[in-house]
Amino acid sequence: MNTATNVDPSEVDKFNKLAHEWWDNTGAFATLHQINPLRLNWIEQNVKRGYQGIDTDKTAETGLTGKKILDVGCGGGILAESMARRGADVTGIDLGAENLKAASVHAEQSGLSQTLRYQHIPVETFAATHSGQFDVVTCMEMLEHVPDPSAIVDACFELLAPGGVCVLSTINRSPKSYLFAIIGAEYVLRLLDRGTHDYAKFITPAELDKMAQNAGFARQDIIGLHYNPLTKRYWLAQNVDVNYMLAVQRPL
Ligand code: SAH
Repeated sequence: MNTATNVDPSEVDKFNKLAHEWWDNTGAFATLHQINPLRLNWIEQNVKRGYQGIDTDKTAETGLTGKKILDVGCGGGILAESMARRGADVTGIDLGAENLKAASVHAEQSGLSQTLRYQHIPVETFAATHSGQFDVVTCMEMLEHVPDPSAIVDACFELLAPGGVCVLSTINRSPKSYLFAIIGAEYVLRLLDRGTHDYAKFITPAELDKMAQNAGFARQDIIGLHYNPLTKRYWLAQNVDVNYMLAVQRPL
C-alpha cells in the first residue's frame, strides 16, 4: 500500500476534534490515563527482558532510561511523556496536527522538551530516513484505526536497531470484544464516544502475531488488559479476548 494512503482521515479527525481533552484525566481519554501506569510497566519489563544478555551498548538494568524510543500514533503524548519521565529520549509521531499541538504544549509545560519531541509524519516515511535508529518502538491503540496495519508493523521493524523491542497494543476481534469494547464501553458505560471503534478493524492476536512474524520480529510476550467497571480497577492477565499488548523483538 502507498505510504500516503495508509491513513483513514476520518479516524484521525475523531481524535483531532477531541485534542483539547488529551490531558483531562476525566475527559475522553480518561481510560488511557488510567491504563497508562500498567502498560508503561509492562513495556519496561519487556525492554529489560529483551536487552538481557545481548551484546549491545544498551543495558537491560536501566530499563527505559537512556533508550531511544519512537511512539507511533502518540496522540496527546500520554505514553510518550511517561516514557520520557522514566529517562528515555522519546520521539512521538502522529497524523493528527491537533493531537501533536496538545502533546507539544504539555511537554513544554512539563519541562520535558529536551528529551521529548513530536513530528507530524507517516511512520512509513519516517522509517525511510530513520532506519535502525531506535532501541524501542511503541504503537499503542492505533493499529485498529488504520487501513493497512501490517505496513505499520513493517515500518516499526525497520526503525529498530537489531535487538530492539517493539510493543504493540490493539483490540481483539471476538464476540466478547464486541460486547465489551463497543456495546459496553461506547453505549452502556459511555467510557468512549460512540463510533470510536469499528469492530471490523479489530485485530486478533493470531493476525497480529502473523504481521509481526512477516515483518521479521521474534515474539516475546503477550498479555491482556482488563477493566472492571464496577470497581473501576484495571489489571493485566493472560486472557486476550478484548484489549491486549504484544511485545516482539528485532533479532540481532
Ligand atoms: N497511542 C496513544 C493514542 C492512541 S489514540 C495512546 O495510546 O495513548 C489513536 C491515535 O492514532 C490518534 O492520535 C490518531 O490520530 C492516531 N492515528 C490514527 N491513524 C494514524 C496513522 N495512520 N498514522 C499515525 N497516527 C494515526
